[in-house]
Amino acid sequence: MFLLRESLGFGSEAVATTIMQATYLAASVMFILGLKSLTRADSARRGMQQAALGMFFAVIGTMLNQHILTYQWIMIGLVVGAAVGYPMAMKVAMTSMPQFIAFSHAFGAIAATLVGVVEYRELTREGALTSGLAGALGFEVLFGALTVTGSFMAFGKLQELITGRPITFKGQNAVNLLLMAVAFGSFGYLIYNPMAAWAFYGVVGLALFLGISMVLPIGGGDMPVVISLLNSYAGLAAAATGFAIGNNVLIIAGALEGAGGFILSVMMSKAMNRSFGNVIFGAFGSAPSAAKKIGEAKEPKTITAEDAATQLAYAGSVVIIPGYGMAVAQAQHVCRELHELIEAQGGSVKYAIHPVAGRMPGHLNVIMAEAGIDYGALLTDVDDANRVLGSADIAIVIGGNDIVNPDADEDKSSPLYGMPIFRPWTSKVTYVIKRGKGVGFSGVENPLFTLDTTRMLYGDAKNALGTLVKEIKALNEGH
Ligand code: NAP
Repeated sequence: MFLLRESLGFGSEAVATTIMQATYLAASVMFILGLKSLTRADSARRGMQQAALGMFFAVIGTMLNQHILTYQWIMIGLVVGAAVGYPMAMKVAMTSMPQFIAFSHAFGAIAATLVGVVEYRELTREGALTSGLAGALGFEVLFGALTVTGSFMAFGKLQELITGRPITFKGQNAVNLLLMAVAFGSFGYLIYNPMAAWAFYGVVGLALFLGISMVLPIGGGDMPVVISLLNSYAGLAAAATGFAIGNNVLIIAGALEGAGGFILSVMMSKAMNRSFGNVIFGAFGSAPSAAKKIGEAKEPKTITAEDAATQLAYAGSVVIIPGYGMAVAQAQHVCRELHELIEAQGGSVKYAIHPVAGRMPGHLNVIMAEAGIDYGALLTDVDDANRVLGSADIAIVIGGNDIVNPDADEDKSSPLYGMPIFRPWTSKVTYVIKRGKGVGFSGVENPLFTLDTTRMLYGDAKNALGTLVKEIKALNEGH
């Protein structure tokens, strides 16, 4: 890299700076295009490629920095990072993606915090620390350190290394508020007196502690909202790093991440019908009571794969509602086979994709895109999907539970009450494919399963769909 820099004639600082800024500009444009493409499932893959290309430009630009004296440690870091990160990313299951994201956030935040500490030491040694720079560095380590421990906690809860249940104690919010007040007080003092090292390191220590104490009362299953909030904090820390070390691409990328993470957290909270305030304070996602309601001991009616296949083969319109179980079973490819068979018989097939189906935002969009389902077949707006369900012959819920629980509409005491849900019971008949009587993420019973128009097809989603496909093919061959 050093030779490349010299041989390309970047010896002159002005030329090197111009080229570096041009790569940073290209990187920023790619990040923005990437985010735009990520807003649609059919262009999401391209969005990731654009963002990766942007990151490549940013790395190249940084490598051309004239202040780099030796590349030895940078190369060691690149090799170790790639050797650890690549196999991890290739092996991780889609259902484990939230903890993987939390884990990688923690490392990004460690980098931002360390840069902050090193910059603080250098600037105080040189006597060049102004109040403005101290503010940027204080902000960087505050959000960086909080994200480090918060993300490790989120990872531990999701990976079940520690209990996924909310851990609460009396006066928890008061303790958190006090910690926050002292951290912000120290931060304020640091701006007033940048040379006060105790205030700087106090902010680091308190933020590390805050990351733990703020994530403690949050239930493991609700962690994706917290992870996206921590994502936003990591973005703010990166933007502050950009201000502290005068790096424009960090400011832009950090601001995009900060805003994107925050918007996503708010959208997820809304889709799950949670108060956003609870994400920051209080026992968010505390385990709801799984008590069964008195007088609802009706047994669900079942259907055989053979009968279901016959009905599906002659159905005019079918709406498939995939949930978390579809992702666990990796049943998306066989689902597409079923879809194609129904269409070949003259029926129409649509997919109702709920914003919080699965365990991370867009989980089912990704799964269906992976199976090559046309984006046009996806109904991603809950109201639109409900309109289509109202005139469908058959609704098939595959590994879904909470997203089709009628109590969200009707039962004020339900933890799901107010969450927008799909209403498959408005179709002529509903088939539900799941392994048994397991509850969903919320832990509550689902009255949909005992309705007169619902038929249960018990089994693992992939196997059950495979059997349906075989039965329809056998029917076709029989004709
Ligand atoms: P769900 O309510 O968790 O229900 C999933 C159902 O799938 C279970 O009842 C389970 O029943 C069944 N299942 C599991 N493995 C299966 C398999 N191999 N084959 C067939 N069925 C299987 O899922 P959902 O309806 O998708 O709702 C998502 C829930 O997660 C919501 O409550 C949402 O708020 C929450 N959440 C979502 C996000 C997000 O970002 N998407 C984040 C955090 C929390 P059996 O055990 O009987 O098979």
